[in-house]
Amino acid sequence: MNETMTSTEASSGATAPLEKIALEIYVPPAKPSLVGLSRAEIAELLGSIGVQPAQRKMRTQQLWHWIYVRGASNFGEMTSISKEMRAQLEAHFTVARPEVVAEQVSSDGTRKWLLRLPSGDAIEKAHEVECVYIPETDRGTLCVSSQVGCTLNCTFCHTGTQRLVRNLTGGEIVGQIMVARDRLNDWADRETPTGSRLVTNVVMMGMGEPLYNFDAVRDALLIVADNEGIGISRRRITLSTSGVVPNIIRTGEEIGVMLAISLHAVRDELRNELVPLNRKYPIAELLQACRDYPGSSNARRITFEYVMLKDVNDSLDDARLLVKMLKGIPAKINLIPFNPWPGTRYECSDWDQIEKFSEYIFNAGYSSPVRTPRGRDILAACGQLKSETEKLSVRERQALRAMAMTD
Ligand code: SAH
Ligand code: SF4
Repeated sequence: MNETMTSTEASSGATAPLEKIALEIYVPPAKPSLVGLSRAEIAELLGSIGVQPAQRKMRTQQLWHWIYVRGASNFGEMTSISKEMRAQLEAHFTVARPEVVAEQVSSDGTRKWLLRLPSGDAIEKAHEVECVYIPETDRGTLCVSSQVGCTLNCTFCHTGTQRLVRNLTGGEIVGQIMVARDRLNDWADRETPTGSRLVTNVVMMGMGEPLYNFDAVRDALLIVADNEGIGISRRRITLSTSGVVPNIIRTGEEIGVMLAISLHAVRDELRNELVPLNRKYPIAELLQACRDYPGSSNARRITFEYVMLKDVNDSLDDARLLVKMLKGIPAKINLIPFNPWPGTRYECSDWDQIEKFSEYIFNAGYSSPVRTPRGRDILAACGQLKSETEKLSVRERQALRAMAMTD
C-alpha cells in the first residue's frame, strides 16, 4: 500500500536514484492539536469556535504560555482560563504530541523514544520515528526527525534505503521537543537536578532531509526558538542537510539557525555516488551557498560532516583537498565514523586512518572533531536512528555524542 514510488527510482543500474517523492497522506485527526500551529492559526481556530475578535489575541497568548512554557498536556491544567472556555476548547481541540511507544534509558543518561505517527491509511501500518536525547556536562542535545524515511538515497545511509517517505507536520516536529520535555520533566516551572534546563540544544539530524520538508521545519523551528515559549536560541539549533542548495539561503534568511552540511566527499564523481543529490547540486554550488549563508561568521561556523568510509574517502589526499576547499568559509569539520548496517557495501575506516585524517585537519587549524579515543567504538549517527537493535549500543551512544557537538 502506498509504497509505489512515482519518481526517478524506476531506473536501475549502478547509479542510485536521486530522490523519491514524499507521500502527502497525513490526515489530521478530527480534533486538531494546537501544538505546532502559529499564533495566527490558533487565533483563527478560536474564531471558528466563536471566540470574539477582541478576545482572540489574549486567549492565544494564554494558550501559547500554557503549551510552550508550562508544557500543559490538557486544557484542564490551564487554570488562568475560565472553566467554561476550557470546556469549549476541550470539545474542539487537543494539545496532543506524538504518541510514545517505547522509551530506552541508558546508564549515561542517553534516552531514545520511539514515536508513532498516524499514516492516514487504515491498511498501512502506523509510521514510526525516533528521537534521541544526549546529555553532556555543558548541554543536552535532542536529535529530531523531519521525515519518516528520507526523500534522498545516500548510499551509506540506512534511512535512505527506506522506500516510504512521509513529511512530518510542524506539530510532529515541535511535538518531539515537547515529548522530551515531558519525559525529562523539563518544563520551565519544574525543578531539574542540575537547576538548569535539560534540553538546551536541538539538531535536525534524525530521519529525513529537513530541506525537503522546508515549510514544516521552518514553522516548527520558529516555534522552538520563540522567546515566549520553548525558547531554545537559534544558535543552539542546528539543521543538517545533504545539500539542497536553493533552500540553504532560505534557511539562513527564514529560520536563522546554525547550518551543518553532509559533505562526505571532496570530488563530484565520488559525491555523486555517496550523496546522489550532488548530481543536481554539485560541490561548487553547495560551497557557494555556504559562502553566501546569512549570518555565518567565525563565531557562527558552518559544520561540515564527513563520514569516514574505508578506502573510499579517507585518504590524506582527501583531507588535503577538504582543507583547501573550505578555505574562506567559517567552518568546522565533524568526522563521523561510519556506522555499518546489514547489507551495506561500505566499511568504517580503520581507527589509525581516522586519527591521521583528524590530525591533518587539526594541523590545518580545525579543532579535532573525533573526541573519544575508542576507535571503532565511536559509531553511529543520528542518521542511523530507527535501528533494528532494541538497545542503544555503546557505539551508537558515543557517535550520537560526536554528532551532538556541532556548535
Ligand atoms: N538528511 C540530513 C540529516 C539527517 S542524517 C543530512 O543528510 O544531513 C544526519 C547525519 O548522519 C548526516 O551527516 C548523515 O550523512 C550521517 N549518516 C547517515 N548514515 C550514516 C552512517 N551509516 N554512519 C555515519 N553517519 C551517517
Ligand atoms: Fe537522507 Fe540524510 Fe540519509 Fe542522505 S544521509 S539518505 S539525506 S537522512
